[in-house]
Amino acid sequence: MRILGDYHTHTPYSHGKNTILENTSVAQQKGMKQIAITDHGFDHSLYAVERKNIDTMRKECDEASKKTGLDVFLGVEANLLDENGNVDITKEEYDKLDILIVGWHNFVKTKSFKTKFSFFFMNYIFNIFGTPVWKRKKNTKAYIEAIKKYPIDIISHLNYGMKTNAIEVAKFARDHGTLIELNGKRIKFSKKEIKEMIKERVKFIINSDAHKKENVGKNDVAFNLIAKYNIPKELVVNLDSVPKFKKIN
Ligand SMILES: [Zn+2]
Ligand SMILES: [Zn+2]
Repeated sequence: MRILGDYHTHTPYSHGKNTILENTSVAQQKGMKQIAITDHGFDHSLYAVERKNIDTMRKECDEASKKTGLDVFLGVEANLLDENGNVDITKEEYDKLDILIVGWHNFVKTKSFKTKFSFFFMNYIFNIFGTPVWKRKKNTKAYIEAIKKYPIDIISHLNYGMKTNAIEVAKFARDHGTLIELNGKRIKFSKKEIKEMIKERVKFIINSDAHKKENVGKNDVAFNLIAKYNIPKELVVNLDSVPKFKKIN
């Protein structure tokens, strides 16, 4: 079993180390057919991709595709902005991209002090000391509202940094054609959550989340989890096959 595409990789356009071509060349060497370049969303305070670079990135994706023969998709790993499920991407920005990943990250720009405190700071603290049920509910709602509002292809590293009721998020994602990422280096689901997601036929995608080229296609944590829980191959969309996305069929 191997993956035919890695759909979550970073470059120096946010805080990755290697170029679009370098990431793509590693994917080619590892026998993949596709890759996506998905730098951090526009409103991250520390390492956001800049809107003005999108056209240049598209050109680099096309050049990398020509040189390697791989499909090179351009996406973004956008940020959840608040409990209402707003995400830092506009319709016009989405129109320029192929793939939309959404995840929770700390240090995202927000004008509201309340949101800064409750959605970012408190989640950071709760994540260390334990997240109460009421907070998990609010966080779950944030993802569900985001899936309703945006054509999200992939939820990245769910429950990493901010805890939710992952089964509820995953079931809602399943019903809306949104994939749950099995991140190559960090998976924060409990045994119960994984088992329930398998039972509910949630669709997963394996992604490296590589920030340097050596890590493209490196998915040890995801493969170990698949083996441990015997996750059926047909539930993992990029295992020995090429997945469909909202814009790419
Ligand atoms: Zn991320
Ligand atoms: Zn990432």
